[in-house]
Amino acid sequence: MGFSVFNFSPSIMAGVRGQNYAQPTPIQEQAIPPVLEGRDVLGLAQTGTGKTAAFALPILQRLSAGPRGVIRALVVAPTRELAEQIRANFAALGQHTGLRAIAVYGGVSAGAQAHGLKGRAEIVVACPGRLLDHMGQGNFIAKNVEVLVLDEADQMFDMGFLPDVRKILARLPATRQTLLFSATMPDALRGLAHECLKNPVTVQVKHTEALATVSHALYPVVEHLKTPLLLELIRRAGSESILVFTKTKHRAKRVAEKVKAAGWSSADLQGNLSQNRRKAAMDGFRSGNIHVLVATDIAARGIDVSQITHVINYDITDTPEAYVHRIGRTGRAAKTGDAYTLVTANDDAMIRVIERKLGKIIERRTLDNFDYRAGPPNSGQKGSHGPSHGGAHAPSAPRPPHAGGGGASGRPFWRKRRRPH
Ligand code: AMP
Repeated sequence: MGFSVFNFSPSIMAGVRGQNYAQPTPIQEQAIPPVLEGRDVLGLAQTGTGKTAAFALPILQRLSAGPRGVIRALVVAPTRELAEQIRANFAALGQHTGLRAIAVYGGVSAGAQAHGLKGRAEIVVACPGRLLDHMGQGNFIAKNVEVLVLDEADQMFDMGFLPDVRKILARLPATRQTLLFSATMPDALRGLAHECLKNPVTVQVKHTEALATVSHALYPVVEHLKTPLLLELIRRAGSESILVFTKTKHRAKRVAEKVKAAGWSSADLQGNLSQNRRKAAMDGFRSGNIHVLVATDIAARGIDVSQITHVINYDITDTPEAYVHRIGRTGRAAKTGDAYTLVTANDDAMIRVIERKLGKIIERRTLDNFDYRAGPPNSGQKGSHGPSHGGAHAPSAPRPPHAGGGGASGRPFWRKRRRPH
């Protein structure tokens, strides 16, 4: 099935062709018809499924007719990166329509945004806090808003934005179309969905559908060998676009420094950076100048680099949902990708939960010719891995890592749990 079934106007079809979209993705197939009909929609889909175009295309079609120079569509998103991403999608898909989209978020001067909000855009993509500021200052005229999208609503909830979102809802016209997209539906969000959606159509793509093209692997390792193992995985991947996740901002910074010291172009992307540095990291990664981006979950929200070939979890996630979300960054649309996770003995319980969620056992791998016996830096133990370099090979046969809890059996910790009884 091609995009012609939706009867989009020629200018919108030109935008679709410009993006080389041949077939609608499952979420687009399901969501576009009801959005075109003006129905409210609850979309359960994560990044990587094509959900942005699923709402952007029918919104562009709707706005093609009617007044210009007033704000008619508002998209609320949790992070600046995602807001920029969505704005860029609207701009690309709508480039032949004459409709204009602007993004509004904190961390940058509000003056230019205020200027842009006055008669210069029909579509506004905004983060909640800065949008409320503009509403308070009378820069954002809400009375013409016909369509509202709440994107990545679960993330807005996690980040504590629901009170702000409720304030925004209260300022918008009651007669409007509302679309709510979320990867998950915690109870608190169900309440919000109930309040703001009228007789919605629910559309859903299963998490695993987006992951079908990704091959997953776990790399058991002791904590002090994570960096050497990461460097070796990067070396062997031979790829130009690798996204590495760490659990903290500090670790993102430190790991990016190590990757850089080992000779790859690398940057960190985490919440402590200024907006300019975040933008430079994202732009560098997108353009291919930065090969390895090391990010925290929140900072990486909305990263859309279609050529990402590898996601490497330096640290495992805290929840299975976050794992699925991270992995959704690779294997996008029709592409394939690899998802590696470095795991220590402490991660055993979380691995089990993730495997249950995916409905399959993830393959455990050991790297040939990697010195799993190397001691910690400065330990005086025999081993080839220093603190800031990796990729060194031990001449002897590789041996899997032994974590402290490996037990007297000598069985590697990641096999222990698969005993028959
Ligand atoms: P999203 O889930 O909106 O972040 O989109 C994920 C990626 O898929 C983006 O790079 C989109 O440009 C791309 N994409 C969206 N729809 C399609 C489609 N129908 N065919 C191919 N790629 C698509």
